[in-house]
Order: sequence, then C-alpha cells, then structure tokens
Amino acid sequence: MSCCVLVLLPSSSTVLDKPSPLCHTLIQTHTTKTQAYRHRYSRPPPLPFRARPRLVRLLAPPALHHQQHHPRCLLHLSTPHDYKHRPMPLLSSSSTSSLPFLVIITISMLLLRYTTAFAFRSGSPPTTLPSLLRLCPHQRQRQTLRALVSSSSTPSSSKVGFIGLGYMGAGMVRRLLEKGDDVIVWNRSVEKSEKLLSEYPVAGRVSIATSPKQVLEEVGEGLTFSMLSTPAAAREVFHAPNGILAGIKKGSKLIDCATLEVKDMQAFDSAVKVKGGSFLEAPVSGSKVPAETGQLLFLTGGNEEVFEEAMPHLSAMGKASFFLGDTGKGTEMKLVVNMIMATMMSSLSEGLALADKANLSTEDVLKVLSLGGMANPMFNLKGPKIIKDDHTVNFPLKHAQKDLAFALALAEKVGVKVPAAAAANEGYVAALEQGEGEKDFSAVARVVMK
Ligand code: NAP
Repeated sequence: MSCCVLVLLPSSSTVLDKPSPLCHTLIQTHTTKTQAYRHRYSRPPPLPFRARPRLVRLLAPPALHHQQHHPRCLLHLSTPHDYKHRPMPLLSSSSTSSLPFLVIITISMLLLRYTTAFAFRSGSPPTTLPSLLRLCPHQRQRQTLRALVSSSSTPSSSKVGFIGLGYMGAGMVRRLLEKGDDVIVWNRSVEKSEKLLSEYPVAGRVSIATSPKQVLEEVGEGLTFSMLSTPAAAREVFHAPNGILAGIKKGSKLIDCATLEVKDMQAFDSAVKVKGGSFLEAPVSGSKVPAETGQLLFLTGGNEEVFEEAMPHLSAMGKASFFLGDTGKGTEMKLVVNMIMATMMSSLSEGLALADKANLSTEDVLKVLSLGGMANPMFNLKGPKIIKDDHTVNFPLKHAQKDLAFALALAEKVGVKVPAAAAANEGYVAALEQGEGEKDFSAVARVVMK
C-alpha cells in the first residue's frame, strides 16, 4: 500500500531554493515513495506519483487556474479517478485493502482542494502547516490534515527531555534517539536510565538527570515528555519538591503521554500555565511493541503550538497524531478507545472459554474469526497466546482496569450507559484480585478459562 502526495511546483526553483518546512516534508515524502516504487518495479512510477499539468487542471480548484504562475508550492493528493485510468500495481494488487485508503485519499483531496482555494482567494498561499490549518473551517478537516502531515513528516533533531522509562517510555525514547534527538532522562529506578546510556554511549546522546526538575531546567524551552504509570505516580512526580512543576519556567513545554483522568491533565495544564509554560496532553494508543517500532497513535489536546512543534518527534514515535481540542479531549478519546479494546478482550476470552467447554476447537474459533468481518490484529495476536496461557506483558492488566474505570467514570459524567464495559470491568477487577495485575491484559481470560 502506498500513500502518494503530489507536490506541484509552478515555479520549482523558488520553492526548492528556499522550501518551507511543509514543502520540504512533502517533497521528501514524494521522493521516498518514488524511490521505493523504482526499487520495487525497476521503472519510474506512473501517475499519480508524478505531477503533470493536466492533473493540475483536473484537481485544482477554480481559484488556482488563475494562479498558474504563482511562485509557491501547491499540494494535491491524487484521486481514485486517476487510479482507475492509470493502473498502479501497488494498488491493483490489493484492491480490497485499498478501499479505505481510497476513501481517505478522496476526503484528503477535497480538504486540500478547498483549503488551497481559500488560500489563493485570500492572497496568501499556504506554505506551512499552521497556515493551512488556519484555513480549515472545521475541526475534523484540521485533524485529517494534521494526521496526514504527521504521518509523512521528516523529523529534525534536537535535545528533548523524557521522564518515565517504563514499558512504553523505554521504547518511545529509543525512537527519539534513533531519529537523532539527544535526550535527558529521569526514571525512578535509575537502572533503566543506565541501561539506555549503555546503549548510546556517545557523549551527549543520553544524559541522566538526578530529578525531573533538572530535566526541565536543562531542556529549557525545548520539549519534555512524561510517561508515568498512574495518576498517583504522575501527581507525585509532578508536585514533588524536585519534581516537574518545580522545573517549569516561562517557555517550558511539557507533553504528558500517560493515560490519566481528564481532571489530572487539566490540573497539570493549569499549573504549568501559571508558571508561564505550555502543556499538551498526548496519551497514546498502541502498546509496548508499537512504542518500540514507532507505530503509536497520539491523541492530543491542549496547546496547539506545542503540538505543531512536537510533530517531528511524535512522527518518530508514532504513525499518526491527532489534535482533538482543549486539554481533556485527547484523554477522553483514549478512554473511549481503551474501553472498546478491553471489552473486546473480555468478549474474546468468553468466546474461547465457551468454545472450549462445548468441545469446539479454540484454534478453529480463531480461524473463523480471522476470516470474517470481526478479524482484527488484536485477536490475531492475543488469541493464540490466550490458548497457550501465555500472558507475557505488553499492556499490564492493572493499567487496562485503570483505564476501564476511568472510562466508566466518564460515561457516568456524560450520562451514557455502557453495560458491556461495566461487565467487562468486573472481569478485570476479578483478575486483579486473583493476582494477574502485572501480566498482560489478556490474562483477564484466566478468570473465565479455568
Ligand atoms: P509502567 O511501565 O508501569 O510505568 C511507567 C513509569 O512510571 C516507570 O518508569 C515507573 O518507574 C514510573 N513510576 C511508577 N510509579 C512511580 C512513582 N510513584 N514515582 C515515580 N515514578 C513512578 O507503565 P507503562 O506501561 O509504560 O505505561 C505508561 C502509561 O501509558 C500508563 O498511563 C499506561 O496506562 C499508558 N499506556 C500503556 C500502554 C502499554 O501497553 N503498556 C499502552 C498505552 C498506554 P520505575 O521504572 O521506577 O518503576
């Protein structure tokens, strides 16, 4: 599957001599995709990889037709229409799985088409992400645009702070190091910081701070990420005498990636603002392996400028990032997602238990599920492990139950009934009482599969 971004350059020398960050990103993406195509098929790629004047006319909004010679960069995404008329092996080889992609491309194309039209009418063509974003009237359009650019942006290196090297933080910080950032880290158990230092012994790549306060102070106006386990841990580290808040100064930027409650994120945001800093909540969807491989989804809310600045770093750690509004919205999205995930895991466990007691093959259950409309990566990954009673931890059960409890509280607050999630929560609580909290959340199956 290939995502194609066309960069149309009415006056290419102007743009290429002095590209804006957004143009630069998209040009690089385009180049990478083109090279990948060449490598795979030993020939130059067909349209829509290459920009052609005819395509400009086909896709450009009317306002652009009068601006053919404007020395700026325009952005377009190719349409399904082009795929139909010019067969592309990458897409035609997997027509079913390309459907959602084509839908996304169509929406994106419309978004960018209207955005650039607005821009040219107002006489200020968009060359940076913030300028494009300002032109999107609807939040959903802005989200789509950010997710697109985030998933294709090229990181630039800098010095960042990182607090909390647990299951998630350890993988995330390695992604930042691989991207080229130097990091200053703090973790309660210093062995995890020392392990990281031993992996990156070159001077200046990894520095170990003696307190969260020191991390913030040394990073100055750069970004500091925090990834702690629970609200209690996050509050403790935030308010400690040598904690995060003590290190916040005018210009500090804190990004909290943990799954906490909305009220925690809002309290951190207010306290940081009072001291002249900026705050972004950025809880993640994805587990230990996606953290190690840079495949997380960031669900953010709070300060939008911090989000823009963080984009290259988020792109190094994740495959897409969403800015969802004020502080709290990212956490709400995360709780919704995790509520669905935990409930699905319970349901899978009960299905396997039922099949087992009814003398059906549990392997067959997984096979049937994998071929139908309920097929999903989580069942494919965790199903066989549940059958083998292998609950090697990726996402600890204690955190899954914490998130479910927060989701239930959110449902109560907004007046929504979630009986399936409430029932699932009972299973997770029972598993915790059975001592399964440190195992993977798939160990909820142990409650039903006795
Ligand atoms: P974790 O490994 O259990 O712990 C994360 C960090 O919290 C560790 O560095 C730990 O320090 C620190 N910590 C815990 N209590 C502390 C305290 N009282 N004072 C100072 N530091 C403390 O958690 P995780 O799995 O990485 O998850 C981090 C966050 O991401 C959680 O909010 C979780 O819900 C969320 N999340 C996790 C996953 C996942 O699959 N694991 C997926 C998505 C989101 P030590 O090393 O010293 O113990």
